[in-house]
Amino acid sequence: MRRGSLNSPNRTLRDLVPDGSRVAAGVVALVVIVATAMLLPVAERPLGEIKPFLPMFATTVVITEYLTAYMLYTHFRSSRMAYLAALASASVFVAIMAAVQVLIFPGVFSETGLLGAGAQSAVWIWTFWHGGYPFFVLLALLLLTPAVARRRDGILSGWAHAELVLAATSAIVLATLAVADGGQLPPLIDGAAYTRLLHSPAAPIVVGINVLALLVCLAVTRLRDLLSAWLAVALLASLADAVLTLAAGARYSVGWYAARCLSMVSSSVVLGVLVWQTSNLYRQLARAHEALAERAVRDALTGAHNRGHFIDQFPRDMRRASRERLPLAVLMVDIDHFKAYNDMYGHQKGDECLRAVAHAMQRVLRRPGDYLARYGGEEFVAVLPNTDTVGAMHVAKAIRDAVAALAIPGALAADRNVSISLGIATFNPDFDTFDADVMVRRADDALYRAKREGRDRAELFDSKRPDLITELRDP
Ligand code: GH3
Ligand code: MG
Ligand code: MG
Repeated sequence: MRRGSLNSPNRTLRDLVPDGSRVAAGVVALVVIVATAMLLPVAERPLGEIKPFLPMFATTVVITEYLTAYMLYTHFRSSRMAYLAALASASVFVAIMAAVQVLIFPGVFSETGLLGAGAQSAVWIWTFWHGGYPFFVLLALLLLTPAVARRRDGILSGWAHAELVLAATSAIVLATLAVADGGQLPPLIDGAAYTRLLHSPAAPIVVGINVLALLVCLAVTRLRDLLSAWLAVALLASLADAVLTLAAGARYSVGWYAARCLSMVSSSVVLGVLVWQTSNLYRQLARAHEALAERAVRDALTGAHNRGHFIDQFPRDMRRASRERLPLAVLMVDIDHFKAYNDMYGHQKGDECLRAVAHAMQRVLRRPGDYLARYGGEEFVAVLPNTDTVGAMHVAKAIRDAVAALAIPGALAADRNVSISLGIATFNPDFDTFDADVMVRRADDALYRAKREGRDRAELFDSKRPDLITELRDP
């Protein structure tokens, strides 16, 4: 089997409908089996005609089958998986049959049914419908068999489209056959009783093809994905529907009503999983978009924000501080003698050190608006909104302490650990009017003074308050 092919059955179906519990499908299957077993002994019990039931049931089936066909086809368009388009043909077939059924059923639109339908028309429509659905599912399932699945995508897509055309045309031809001239096909029903149907070859053919489709579905898909699990439930409900109808022996009996309810189950479960899967895809898309957007603003090595984020965000922070008349602080941080560290321990160790220092600094920034960005190389910038000079110095000291606490052995002297130098610039809305660029330049100036004065320290830009600087420096 071609690896990675869109038509490779197990991979793609699971790709398409990824995880998700198949327990619900199992429960519904169990309910269908138990309900059928319980209803079989009382299937013949008459319940009387409930006029709105048939139009309601047939309309439900028409709408759900058209929607199922539409969604399967749109999924084919996006995944190019021909099996889905082929599967849509079964729904197209049922939708046409159910639409004709409601038009021609005696007593719905007229006593004898529209389109010149005869007494045998509705029962023949039922027969074609219940034989046709599993037949077209079977044709679609063939696309998943290893021998067929390895063919070229164009061939598989051609097959699927041919199946769609075949389903639509055969539905129209068979419906015409059942309806035209009052239905010239052999009689299967006497009044409301269809015991003849039970003894005609049509009954074992319908049941047989339903059983076959269910078995092939189990064998080919092994229910490894959600769509297959629910398709199996649809086929099981279709089989139970046929069995109950035949056991009922007449219209408007317990079995007849129950069978039509099963028809609705059969036609809605695949639609259910497709809708579920579509909303699931939207959720995944939103999550992927969020993750991508988050990754785009992060530095891959350290996990801090990247320079791009800082360039975007920082002018906004400055404008907001100015507008709201709040202080703001920027710390420019640079690892001391990092070139020597790399030279001594190698780049890999250098990267580890960068990561550890970034994480330590990040742990200090706890306010929601604070953030750390990697400015470049071994240089970081911390932005502290609503923080004045005193606050900024406290944070600077906490950052220095946090890096010192890592106790990473430095490169220059055996007794000295890796240290950082910091430059602090603050914005005071009461008398400052400068912009983001000036702010960065000031923090950079302060950082270079810290370097000049011996490193492993924090310096405040051009402070008019030397007392604060003194307080900042370690003794
Ligand atoms: P100073 O105390 O003056 O800052 O000295 P320094 O050696 O830290 O400064 P310099 O700017 O000369 O060297 C910075 C070094 O940081 C250069 C490079 O080897 C290292 N560096 C920059 N980015 C990375 C990185 O992503 N990974 C590693 N391992 N090293 C980096
Ligand atoms: Mg450095
Ligand atoms: Mg540097």
